[in-house]
Amino acid sequence: MTPSILYFSPQLASWKAQLVETQLLSYGQTVEWQAIQGIDQSPVTSLVLLAESDISAQDWPMLSSRRTIIILEEWNLDRSIEWIKKGATNCFAYNDNHLISWLISELSKFALTRSNRTEDDILQVIIDAIPAPIFFKDQLHIYRGCNAAFCESIGRSRNQIIGHSVYDIAPKHLADKYYEADCKLLAQGGTQRYEAPVQFCNAGLREIEFNKAVFTKANGQIAGQVGVMLDITERNQLMHKLEKATRTDPLTGIGNRREFNIVIHEEFDNHEKSKQKLSLMTLDVDFFKKINDKFGHGGGDQALQLIANWLQNQLRGSDNVFRVGGEEFYVLMRNTDMEAALKMAESLCKGMSTHSFTINQQEVRITLSAGVIELDPSSALENALEMVDKALYEAKSNGRNCVCPAFL
Ligand code: GH3
Ligand code: MG
Ligand code: MG
Repeated sequence: MTPSILYFSPQLASWKAQLVETQLLSYGQTVEWQAIQGIDQSPVTSLVLLAESDISAQDWPMLSSRRTIIILEEWNLDRSIEWIKKGATNCFAYNDNHLISWLISELSKFALTRSNRTEDDILQVIIDAIPAPIFFKDQLHIYRGCNAAFCESIGRSRNQIIGHSVYDIAPKHLADKYYEADCKLLAQGGTQRYEAPVQFCNAGLREIEFNKAVFTKANGQIAGQVGVMLDITERNQLMHKLEKATRTDPLTGIGNRREFNIVIHEEFDNHEKSKQKLSLMTLDVDFFKKINDKFGHGGGDQALQLIANWLQNQLRGSDNVFRVGGEEFYVLMRNTDMEAALKMAESLCKGMSTHSFTINQQEVRITLSAGVIELDPSSALENALEMVDKALYEAKSNGRNCVCPAFL
């Protein structure tokens, strides 16, 4: 029979020399004994004898990753069950002679199971062929298997993963997140999907979608969980870009009507709570058709870009400008009452009328008409939007290049 290694903790040194070693030898069992200071010094899946007093709480997560036999001072069934629940394989008292027969049976079984692993090997080949990282852990959160993609992505060998917990392979702040999700899944059963960052060895921090499910023992009890990791970093980046594109006016690069609708509703809701003054200005370029007529549609586009850029430069950091139609803009002014909003509108109109733009090497003068309203959280937003547009029409009919206020 192939010699097997038995690992043992410090307290067991004299006991094993006197009793177990000699008895095993007398039954013809060749065993190599290896002293260890802590369970972590024994390889995963090895057979380890531990005196109860040699075990500290930090050894618990490793109990189930070895075949661990706990030696009790004296026999106690409750204590024995407690250790088995923590992951130990079996418990014996120092003076229990059954230990010898149990060890012999365990050593023989081990030799047998190692030569009968074809199905496991095929399964490993299958999961290794899948490019997404896959792992599985037992109910004590110890990795029991993984595929090549998992090893590759986190930059560890299978031996550095299997038999270890997530705290051995991930930074603590991330391991805390995974552990919390794992506990939740084991408690609730079924499947689980969530997104969390993962530190990849060659690609930095990636956004990962975890798709997990529990697996059960023959008696239906949860035995562990399996997880597949999908890297959705690029997908999320694209979604953000797409989301930004749908909110941006491609000609001027400022927010479009969709962005305006989102921001104004958010601000209106905040404003309802914060009671801070919030005002809105609507601006329309006067006689814009003439610019198109003179410079063509391309020249008109250039004018719109120059106007949007000029407006942005005039506004304060807390204001937002949106292009909501052809040559129509909205300016949202936070912390601004009607008086300050009117001043701002007049200053914009005056500033625009005295500024000269250059289009196709020609100087162009542009004027704006404006409507202004201070929003009131007790009145419907739609009402305010309607009224500020009416104020703009009034400015147009008052001769343009001027500002009209609207009051709720
Ligand atoms: P006013 O507002 O002073 O009454 O006169 P207006 O000439 O500006 O009249 P109106 O607002 O009715 O016309 C706006 C014009 O803007 C009509 C349309 O051809 C032009 N326009 C709308 N969108 C664009 C655009 O994206 N590019 C260009 N070049 N022109 C546009
Ligand atoms: Mg116009
Ligand atoms: Mg218009």
